[in-house]
Amino acid sequence: MADATIVMKFGGSSVADAERLRRAAERIVARREEGHRVVAVLSARGKETDRLIEAAYEVSDNPDPREMDMLLSTGERVSCALCAMAINDLGHHAISLTGSQAGIVTDTTHTKARILDVRADRISAALDNDEIVLVAGFQGVSTTKDVTTLGRGGSDTTAVALAAALGAEECEIYTDVAGVFSADPRIVPDARKLSVVSSEEMLEMSSSGAGVLQLRSVEYARNHGVRIHCRSSFEDGPGTVVLAENQTMEHPLITAVTHSTDEARVTVIGVPDTPGAAGQIATALAEAHVNVDMIIQNEPVSKDTRADMSFTVPRDDLRAAHEALDSLKPVMGIGDIATDKEMGKVSVIGAGMKSHPGVAAKVFSVLGAEGINIEMISTSPIKISCVIAGDRVEDAVRALHSAFELSGEDTIRAEEPFGLPPS
Ligand code: ADP
Ligand code: ASP
Ligand code: MG
Repeated sequence: MADATIVMKFGGSSVADAERLRRAAERIVARREEGHRVVAVLSARGKETDRLIEAAYEVSDNPDPREMDMLLSTGERVSCALCAMAINDLGHHAISLTGSQAGIVTDTTHTKARILDVRADRISAALDNDEIVLVAGFQGVSTTKDVTTLGRGGSDTTAVALAAALGAEECEIYTDVAGVFSADPRIVPDARKLSVVSSEEMLEMSSSGAGVLQLRSVEYARNHGVRIHCRSSFEDGPGTVVLAENQTMEHPLITAVTHSTDEARVTVIGVPDTPGAAGQIATALAEAHVNVDMIIQNEPVSKDTRADMSFTVPRDDLRAAHEALDSLKPVMGIGDIATDKEMGKVSVIGAGMKSHPGVAAKVFSVLGAEGINIEMISTSPIKISCVIAGDRVEDAVRALHSAFELSGEDTIRAEEPFGLPPS
């Protein structure tokens, strides 16, 4: 369709070197030549964000979050400026914008800011002027006018937020795999590419470690009715379309196995057995912007004893969690805080498990047969997650993927016109 706006997002490996960057420029130009108004969101090149984080820790043990954002936001700027140059050489006119220039307004939570508003008038004016607009992903400007970043993988969310603000017909996420798979293809090479996945399942997948789409991008797309098409930047052909629940027909029992090796466990020993104690702990962690995942509290055996409370947090949040809990020691009279850095998590996800009992039993039995000890468990109506030792995660993913027979051809699970995503 002529004159429709399309948002394309290219991840780090898709712009890693000059050759790949030129290929991304060609894809962007091809969309423009089809008659679309094109906005492209770019990530930092290759492992640039990792390198910048390392550089920060080389000069400081505890880098200031505001300065961290000033540093990290440069990576995406480089990609956009270079891509604009490549596009201009292809005979089109491109303009690169920082997140701030693009009107991405966020809250003030440095290093994991949330988008509050998108003031896309500058982008719209450039599109009206026949320009291709390149936007630096993963960043915005806070309500107090500081540069912020959106958390690892945040360029996906930039792209979806722009698609929503511009009324784009689709948000295309170009990456180094052909779409969303039934498990990370790096661990399970014969994992199945899903041609469609419901947003309900995708939310659970992203929140349990499938980094192919950042969790917030999936939430944002669901809240704003944006269609995400996740696809390969190296080969043509359809990828995976994330659909609203009511657009998918069948619900297979299990859709995917996901994993994370970035978990840490914190145990607060000797929590007073009084009403409000758990609330105080959770509030302190929330105020420190720590994302708590699984929580277990054991009941004290007698009235005089205290409880222990364990929970998992992303390993990157461990320091903040420790500091927040230390500050509670004098207030609450809690005991020691024990931590374990090397935890992992494996999850099975499938909307079909809502109506089929026995999935948990099978998950636990499969892990047991592999000799993998389950340390913590949590469930949702469509997910079962187990915390296990970090070094057994890959074995667990392979065993569960095989036990639930997830390899093989994709079975298309949606009605036309969504059954086959557009190429
Ligand atoms: P980009 O730089 O393009 O944003 P990411 O590294 O953030 O790319 O995401 C793509 C990677 O996500 C893939 O290389 C793959 O290893 C990983 N991944 C994890 N789980 C899945 C999954 N279920 N399906 C596809 N990719 C997955
Ligand atoms: N460059 C950032 C990261 O590595 C954001 C992104 O790639 O989406 O996390
Ligand atoms: Mg990513």
